[in-house]
Amino acid sequence: MAKQSYQTILIGAGQAGLAAAYHLRKQGVSFIGLDGAGQAGDSWRSRYDSLTLFTPRRCDGLPGFPMSGDPHGFPTKDEVADYLQAYRERFELPIRYGARVVKAERHEGRFRLKLADGETLYAEQLLAATGPFQKPAVPQAAASLDEGVLQLHSSEYRHPAQLQAGPVLVVGAGNSGAQIAVELSGQGREVLLSASGPIRVLPLRFLGRSIFHWMDRLGLLRASGQSLMGRWLRKQRDPVFGRELTESLRRGAIRLMPRVSGAEGRDIRFADGSLLKVANVIWATGFRPDYSWLRVDGALDGDGRPLHTEGVSPVPGLYYLGLPWQRSRSSALIAGAAGDAAYVTARMQEDRLLGSRLD
Ligand SMILES: Cc1cc2nc3c(=O)[nH]c(=O)nc-3n(C[C@H](O)[C@H](O)[C@H](O)COP(=O)(O)OP(=O)(O)OC[C@H]3O[C@@H](n4cnc5c(N)ncnc54)[C@H](O)[C@@H]3O)c2cc1C
Repeated sequence: MAKQSYQTILIGAGQAGLAAAYHLRKQGVSFIGLDGAGQAGDSWRSRYDSLTLFTPRRCDGLPGFPMSGDPHGFPTKDEVADYLQAYRERFELPIRYGARVVKAERHEGRFRLKLADGETLYAEQLLAATGPFQKPAVPQAAASLDEGVLQLHSSEYRHPAQLQAGPVLVVGAGNSGAQIAVELSGQGREVLLSASGPIRVLPLRFLGRSIFHWMDRLGLLRASGQSLMGRWLRKQRDPVFGRELTESLRRGAIRLMPRVSGAEGRDIRFADGSLLKVANVIWATGFRPDYSWLRVDGALDGDGRPLHTEGVSPVPGLYYLGLPWQRSRSSALIAGAAGDAAYVTARMQEDRLLGSRLD
């Protein structure tokens, strides 16, 4: 029979949760990690087949075990997934996969967790590392499209063979939308890319090094959201990394379209009033948070987003990891996992020692 009560429960064991588990284990805390996925690395494994990271291996390692291979080279998503699995095994981290938390609430001064299989667990401290990209966000226009139009969110897209014959519109020109549009443009079909504003492109490499090497050297990755540089960065559109999109646009292999403003039947309407008949639409329109399982007063704002200061909730005993801009630009990237996990788990340890944040 599994133990029911722990000092700390970690929910979510992707890269952020694994980095936290490493520190919790070193602190000698009684803890367990719970993850609804089948195994470590599944969130990377489930992404599109051709995905290669824009961050080099030297930025993709977790504490105590760097990624092997060329540190300036870019790993595939499966390489990262296998690395995360190896990481969990190497440090024998106590994580149960296939354990989805459906409810977490306060109960007699502790947290009470309900799992999908009905099991109940208790903890003094809760660390939520359930990922920055939880539920696909799709614009309302999607619901007005005819059934004959094949629609996929970027999280459902795996490879070009999923699409039917005819033109494809990729909506959203961030890194996923740009990479998917470039991949489809090599398949001899008409590819259109809808961008809601100007696209800022940065090369993957500069002077023989990854652009992330230079961003790190300039302090851009670690600038806090409150610093002058951080406040400026937060106002900028996220860049698209790599020159492939620019080249495909220049060759005419991808046609740039304005923002999507509506849809009807097989037609998509754009902000400039133009209409386009489409056979396939890929919504690379991002994600929204989903903390519907977290039923703790004072934990979330009116939009369901975590209330926190650098990952520490105003609710005693509750912490977060892996949130966008939690402490810096790199907080929702692998590069930020190690530093943020060290910081949050140190705060958790302090609170345990002082007893000040546990009621
Ligand atoms: C297409 C794409 C490309 C990206 N490319 C890069 C890149 O090149 N470089 C980079 O650094 N970053 C990249 N990122 C961003 C980032 O590194 C990833 O999103 C990363 O997976 C976030 O790690 P995480 O551990 O915070 O969350 P996740 O990897 O999402 O892990 C969260 C875990 O929590 C579990 N979980 C969620 N809810 C529950 C629950 N209720 N109960 C139990 N378990 C739960 C999930 O099963 C999951 O395993 C990319 C993201 C996307 C979408």
